[in-house]
Parts: sequence; structure tokens; C-alpha cells
Amino acid sequence: MNKLFLYNTLSRKKEEFAPIKEGEVGLYTCGPTVYNFAHIGNLRTYIFEDLLKRCLEYNNYQVHHVMNITDVGHLTGDMDMGEDKLELGAKREGKSAWEIAHFYEDAFKKDLEYLNIETPNIYARVTDNIPEQIALIQMLAEKGYTYKTSDGIYFDTSLVKEYNKLSHLPLEELKEGARVEKNAEKKNPTDFALWKFSPSGAKRQMEWESPWGIGFPGWHIECSAISLKYLGQEMDIHCGGIDHINIHHTNEIAQSEAATGKKFFNYWMHGAFLNIVGGKKMAKSDGNFLTLDNTLIKKNLNPLAYRFAALQVHYRKPMEYSEDSIAQANNGLNSLLNSVAALGEIKGGVNEEYREKFLAAINDDLNMAQALAVVSAVLKSKLSAPDKLKTILDFDKVLGLRLDLAKDMAAPEFNLSDLASDVQALIKARQEAREAKQWEESDRLREEIKKKGYLVEDIKNGYKVSKL
Ligand SMILES: [Zn+2]
Repeated sequence: MNKLFLYNTLSRKKEEFAPIKEGEVGLYTCGPTVYNFAHIGNLRTYIFEDLLKRCLEYNNYQVHHVMNITDVGHLTGDMDMGEDKLELGAKREGKSAWEIAHFYEDAFKKDLEYLNIETPNIYARVTDNIPEQIALIQMLAEKGYTYKTSDGIYFDTSLVKEYNKLSHLPLEELKEGARVEKNAEKKNPTDFALWKFSPSGAKRQMEWESPWGIGFPGWHIECSAISLKYLGQEMDIHCGGIDHINIHHTNEIAQSEAATGKKFFNYWMHGAFLNIVGGKKMAKSDGNFLTLDNTLIKKNLNPLAYRFAALQVHYRKPMEYSEDSIAQANNGLNSLLNSVAALGEIKGGVNEEYREKFLAAINDDLNMAQALAVVSAVLKSKLSAPDKLKTILDFDKVLGLRLDLAKDMAAPEFNLSDLASDVQALIKARQEAREAKQWEESDRLREEIKKKGYLVEDIKNGYKVSKL
């Protein structure tokens, strides 16, 4: 049995993973706030979490995966100030907050599909779990952890021992970070809202009755309530981006452990940022942010090229993004697809020696770069082609690059961006016609492209172009 080691933010060490229930893992991953498209920095975190989940499955664990969908209550400031992001999105687009939430939830799920990210067992919308959040706040109120201000019910962080156990930061530093947004009524700068009152005189689009008055839940309480509801008996691993450590996850732990008196999740894992070349962190507030659609899909690049790029950088290290790095990843993926496509039919066996090496790589805190090196080693080895194929397809259960479709996806010997610009324009126009379901127009353009010497074929998740 190969031991699985994972880096735990709580201990700041790689630890041997041991689940609460034998053979099963409860996995909670903080989900998106659905008020805009996901930016590719967010998507990097979901890729990391998918690799973790697939790695656990490869180790024969049955994974129970829950993800929340934040469709209310996430304010523009992390410390409970500012506007609700959903209501802000509604104003921006002239739609209702509910319409905004549904639209961007669908867009998010489509992104995950493009990136071949496995669907969680449970998607839990915050608005579908309001009673659970109210019940948890009531437990905290009964135990004396809450107090009321003019704008809501707050959690008193001074009553919690080891409030900084996840961040490992001196309390003074956490307080300093929290002082950025001033709220004179808070007893401590790090205190946070459990329930916010609807502003008097103004009706919010999303609001609910509660024992404290009409309002909506604070951002952090949702993940505690939802994870306790679905994973209460198996609080194994909780994940998110590193930006969640100091506030969101710290507060989730504080309130959950105060309410239940029990440890809230044994392992905390965090994915590092994506930096745009030049070293700047991506944030939606920067306006013109990068999405899967505008960085890859609209440029006729395989969206899985982004997954392939993410595989090459360890999840705890910052990843650099540039158009060049994505083009390189796209070439790298194409070359892998071509090599796999050339291996023929699936009829061989999985090579145990290489399987062991692959497992050792992923079980070392998801060393995917090393895992890819094992894939290259298999391709270069003396194994028979059918055995190579079977072995690599076995690894792809974790890599998730759809290598089973290599024959369909195998790219032409040239890059689309190398084609003459009129051919590129025709291909793009045909793609747009297909998306608009203008089939006749798309067929007409296909013929035009043929005349230029190229064949376009539709395949799962896209199309491929070859020379005639
Ligand atoms: Zn969360």
C-alpha cells in the first residue's frame, strides 16, 4: 500500500493522510460566488481540487465531495462591508439577483466541464440552505459567542482560543488586516457578521426572516452550515485558494468549533495564485479579467491546454500566466495527444512498475510535474504500444486530459494560429455559426474552408482541422 502525503496548512507539514472512516473521504471545496464569470485564477484552484479528488480516487478512496455555490451574501469587502456582489451584478446587467446567480452558476459549471473537472456529489446553493445557517447562528447565540450591532449579528472572535491556528499569523497582524474596513461597532477588528440586517427602508432582492430580523447570512457561515450538514461525520479535507486562509477559513473554523465543540476538518489544503506575467495577482475588480472563454476557447485553443499548464506547476507554487505560456501548453498537449493517438488500439495491460512510479509522484502531495515525467518515460520505454496506451490511460484517470479521445482530439501537425488569416477567419466564422445553430451557414463555410485546402471536422468538445 502506497502512503498518501498531503500538505496540511494547519500543521504546515506534509502529513500522511488518514481518513475518519476507512476507505472514504469527505471533501469540501469552497465554491464560486456567482455574480460574474470565473477568472482563470479561480479555475486554477478548481483544477488543483480536481487533481486532489482524482488522486484520492486513484488510491481507492470513495470521495464524498460537496461544493457550495455562493448566490447571496458575499459582500465586496471581505470584512462584511460594501455591497452584496449579487445585487451589484444585478444592477450592472439590469437583471434580477436570481437571474444573475443562475446565469453565472451555469457558466461556472460549463467551465468545469471544459476543464474535465469531475462534478461534486453535491452542489449546495447558499439560498437553498438558509434554515441550516440560521440554526447554526442560533447555536452560537445560545453559547454566548454572538452580539448585535446596528447592522447585524456578529461573532466575537476574542472568545475563541487559537483564532490564528490556520493562518499562523500573530493575532495583531490579523487584526491589522481586518482594520482596513472600519466598523466602529465591532468589539474586535477580526469579528465578523453571521447575519446582516436588510438596510432599513430598502428592500433587498434576496432576504429572509430570522429570529433577529429580516436580512441575509454573512459569507462565512454558509460553508460551516453546508459542510456540517452534508459531511458532519467525515470532516476530512477542506480546500480553497490561499486567499481564503486568513479570513474565510479562519472564521469557518472559529464559528464551527465554537458551535460543535469538535474539530472542524482534519486537513486544510490551499492552492496558490495565478500571476499574470509581470507578477500581478488576478482580481475580478480589475475589470478586464481573463476567463477560459477569452483566453482559450475564443482563440481556438483546447481548454484542456490550461489544465495541462496547471499540471506542470505544483499547486502550492504561484503559476505564471502569459499568452506564450498558454500557447506552449497547447503545443505540449497536442504533442502528447499525437503520441497517444499513435499507440493504436486499447488492448494491452497496465505496467505495474510505471504505475508504482506514477502513484509515488501523485502521493507526494500531488507532484503532477513528476507524474507527467512518468508519462514521458512510458512513451520512451521499451513497452509494447498497447501496454503503453493502457498504462497512460490508467494515469489519465488522475491527469484528466481526455487522452482516451486522443485519436479524435489529436491535433494537426500545424497550429491553427499558423494558418493564413483568411482561413482562420473562416474557421472562426463557422464556429460562430455553429454556436448560433445556423447550420446552413456553417456548412457553407465548411465548403469555403475546403476550397482553401483544409478539412474541419466536429468532435466532442470542439473540432479539428486537417490538411486535405
Ligand atoms: Zn467557503
